[in-house]
Amino acid sequence: MPGWLARVGVVPLRGWIIMAQFAAAEDRACSAFAVRAFADNYIWLIRGRPPEHVAIVDPGDPEPVVATLERERLRPVAILCTHHHGDHVGGAYALAARYGIPVYGPARERIRAITHHLEEGDRIELEELELTFTVFEVPGHTAGHIAYYGHGMLFCGDTLFSAGCGRLFEGTAAQMYASLTRLAALPEDTKVYCAHEYTLANLRFALAVEPGNHAARNHLEACKRLRARDFPTLPSTIGRERQINPFLRVRTPMVRAAAQQWCRHATSTHRGMEISSRCALDSDVEVFAVLRRWKDNFRG
Ligand SMILES: [Zn+2]
Repeated sequence: MPGWLARVGVVPLRGWIIMAQFAAAEDRACSAFAVRAFADNYIWLIRGRPPEHVAIVDPGDPEPVVATLERERLRPVAILCTHHHGDHVGGAYALAARYGIPVYGPARERIRAITHHLEEGDRIELEELELTFTVFEVPGHTAGHIAYYGHGMLFCGDTLFSAGCGRLFEGTAAQMYASLTRLAALPEDTKVYCAHEYTLANLRFALAVEPGNHAARNHLEACKRLRARDFPTLPSTIGRERQINPFLRVRTPMVRAAAQQWCRHATSTHRGMEISSRCALDSDVEVFAVLRRWKDNFRG
């Protein structure tokens, strides 16, 4: 890779842009860059040592991945899947067949391409990259969703987004809240590689919940500038998410009060007694559940 790309990290590719995040040579053992797919998916390519070896995370579409690998002369060594949705695994089988590489994924989900079924606490050693990742089970978006953590990087699929979180398609609010709480406890400088570019819409919701959150407001302006140039807003960091992500801030009095207010408004057709008891939101999980419903109905 030429030096200018290592520093600037932008390559036009069939109308897409690839953003690289290589700050310094010593960081190359722990970097990843995005291949875009569909409307707003990011397929992350993890680089190791030697840097021409990569692991592919959540390849929903094989074509942009193949184009990037060929263009950059990269050699894939493994595929890592977080959950069974087609926009994350749709290209896994074709890529595995083409390159003869293993496919890691959640043991609790049915994904045709998987060769290595992973559970909580498993460690995967990607020898060609000299990288090791630990598996977290993070149910909520789907029942068997997993995340990969190692070398200061978190690949969390559709569980944690910048300033947001995944929808509850299969799991409960309690499961998702536990999953997010766990991820939020990682070191603050952990880089968060989410699978979608949802940051602007998420920040608008975050500011509807917490209009006085200056960190979220400042980050919205920074992300607007990035998106205006068609750059990704990712990776984020755990430290930033603790400041701007309402789903990680349910204990904040302002967030709790906003959730209570929205709950009362949303249920105002019900009888008074029922409303006051249902919107008391005594637990963190109840606040989280209301925030998630609010976001599902938010048109910012
Ligand atoms: Zn999904």
